[in-house]
Amino acid sequence: MRRLRRAKIVATLGPASSDASVIARLFEAGADVFRINMSHTSHDRMRDLVGAIRSVEREHGRPIGILVDLQGPKLRLGTFAGGSAMVKKGDNFVFDANTAPGDATRVWLPHPEIFAAVEPGHTLLIDDGKVRLNVTAATPERIDARVVVGGKLSDRKGVSLPDSTIPFSALAEKDRSDLEAALEAGIDWVALSFIQRPEDIAEAKKITRGRAAVMAKIEKPQAVTKLAEILDAADALMVARGDLGVEMPLEKVPAVQKQMTRAARAAGKPVIVATQMLESMIASPVPTRAEVSDVATAIYEGADAVMLSAESAAGQYPVEAVATMNRIAEEVEHDPNYRAIITAQRAEPEATGADAIADAARQIAETLDLSAIICWTSSGSTASRVARERPKSPIVALSPNDTTGRKLSLVWGVHCVVTEDAHDQDDMVERACRIAFREGFAKAGQRAIIVAGVPLGTPGATNMLRITFVGSEAAGD
Ligand code: PEP
Repeated sequence: MRRLRRAKIVATLGPASSDASVIARLFEAGADVFRINMSHTSHDRMRDLVGAIRSVEREHGRPIGILVDLQGPKLRLGTFAGGSAMVKKGDNFVFDANTAPGDATRVWLPHPEIFAAVEPGHTLLIDDGKVRLNVTAATPERIDARVVVGGKLSDRKGVSLPDSTIPFSALAEKDRSDLEAALEAGIDWVALSFIQRPEDIAEAKKITRGRAAVMAKIEKPQAVTKLAEILDAADALMVARGDLGVEMPLEKVPAVQKQMTRAARAAGKPVIVATQMLESMIASPVPTRAEVSDVATAIYEGADAVMLSAESAAGQYPVEAVATMNRIAEEVEHDPNYRAIITAQRAEPEATGADAIADAARQIAETLDLSAIICWTSSGSTASRVARERPKSPIVALSPNDTTGRKLSLVWGVHCVVTEDAHDQDDMVERACRIAFREGFAKAGQRAIIVAGVPLGTPGATNMLRITFVGSEAAGD
């Protein structure tokens, strides 16, 4: 099975999509990677989902990526007498260290680290920004604030502090235990929520030790200001537009999306554009025109993947939502303007052998109108550097590692086939042609280009380019 588009689709699993038959239909409709959100998933449920995805993978003989999204250090209010309290614009309101139930004048804030970090003038947002307060005074035990936008405060609602860098770890106790369970279950990608600095990624990598790739969800303004260092430390980025739109003015989010997509493309690391892409499809079989345009924009920008959240996890039309994204991506990529737009953002090759070869492979493939760029890749790095070029020719990655195939399912344009390493150069060429033919990427009589690191199996040693003719023997004649 081959997709007829280069951008990938990530579908979040949830109550609307947790049984194996729905997961199979989502895959058939176009989902390349499944996301499991640990904010709403128990360890047992996560293991069941991983098992169901792996069985779809076996059935279709295609690697499928699994992305586990950790909840992260979500800050919450204490409780209120009667469950809630109303505050109105201009009221004074106090957050303190007193565990007694709150009222319309005060509430317990069970996070001492917040008291130490906020300063007068900082903003406090409650319940995804529905209630907004401005800090007037702060001590280690108490924050005085004035209500700027009033509303209902209720038990355990989330608290966001867009101006304050809170000295907490990006991995709360729950995240550490979720991460261990996910690594044991054999997931491929882990996404870290509410990270603020590159050290947060380093902390997660100490635990993953290469057992899963680490994705930085960018959802705090503090992370945007440190984007370059975070991108350097992480294996991928997610433009988490939901929380970004709470923590910074909504109208600033599109520019951040562009900034992040360009930075990740230049670094050759995957970037996912996420949240509310087809939001109306939670309840409707047809998206709005604006949503179609939003998905199309991400594809034109050359994002590696677009993501569905509640649309596939809890909506009434999960399969239709994936199929809709699939159709939008196919259509955009067939637009005669698409190539010019995507090429305009291509970054210069870095001064490495791998990038020089990836750049040359793209140019040769374009000049000779080759049917495919076939990469022998052990860790996936050769295929990722070729994908960074956003070539016109399809990219076929051949890897002996299941885990590489699964990770590459997120990477723009890469169709990975898991196959044992080539025994010698003849086998490398012959098998590359045979697989490209079998998978529908080359016909007998066409030419393809092979990229590899020789000796095979040495990660990062991309050093070989070979133009090859796909003979009729590739078809088994
Ligand atoms: C987001 O905030 O956009 C996001 C993807 O994170 P979550 O779905 O975990 O809130």
